[in-house]
Amino acid sequence: YGEASEVVVPTPNGRVYIGEHHPLVVVAGPCSVENEEMIVETAKRVKAAGAKFLRGGAYKPRTSPYAFQGHGESALGLLAGAREATGLGIITEVMDTADLPAVASVADVIQVGARNMQNFALLKKVGAQDKPVLLKRGMAATIDEWLMAAEYILASGNPNVILCERGIRTFDTKYARNTLDLSVIPVLRSLTHLPIMIDPSHGTGKSEYVAPMAMAAIAAGTDALMIEVHPNPAKALSDGPQSLTPEKFDRLVQEMSIIGKVV
Ligand code: PEP
Ligand code: MN
Repeated sequence: YGEASEVVVPTPNGRVYIGEHHPLVVVAGPCSVENEEMIVETAKRVKAAGAKFLRGGAYKPRTSPYAFQGHGESALGLLAGAREATGLGIITEVMDTADLPAVASVADVIQVGARNMQNFALLKKVGAQDKPVLLKRGMAATIDEWLMAAEYILASGNPNVILCERGIRTFDTKYARNTLDLSVIPVLRSLTHLPIMIDPSHGTGKSEYVAPMAMAAIAAGTDALMIEVHPNPAKALSDGPQSLTPEKFDRLVQEMSIIGKVV
């Protein structure tokens, strides 16, 4: 299904093209939307650095039920405010089919997280609406399983799917949270027309490893990057250890523009 080798996303700041024949697109923002001030500040900072999309979770898939679960619908409202303040496109995750209308009313791209990659009911529902979908690779998913998950969305009528590698489970979890599988970039390129995004934040779990892996992903030909940025990572309600400060993010984007297809 589908032939276009790009996904075109209308945002208040204009159309953003994601694909092999377009400049690198950077998505940045906190793991979770925590409050109005932090999301608007982060949005302004990442926009100034060159990001085209703000990411931030309203509904968070947490390992522990006692961990911060996201502010839900009220966080969607805060994302809408950040969109209004900056014109950035919004990428946020949907975990439950029941929340899809609310998420789709705010998101410019709807994220399906690693843990839901094979939630086929959810895939069919995001396939039956018209916002583009960012499909993260399951942490133990083969490439064929991932592509078949994408196929569920395409087969339900939505041709706008972006594939996002975010690290897989291997045998060593001591030094990196996951193993960021950059070999998927040339492999996917040979198998599918769908645009490719790399998430070195979840892929490594440590902020000091994000920049080198972002650079490696560009060298390997990624179409887009997703990077977690928080105004005060030490105080983050989720994924602080892997989050860059706005200053570090700004420096990284400047370094990236030297080696890669520029933002
Ligand atoms: C996220 O993007 O914050 C997230 C939860 O990602 P993943 O589904 O890749 O773990
Ligand atoms: Mn996160």
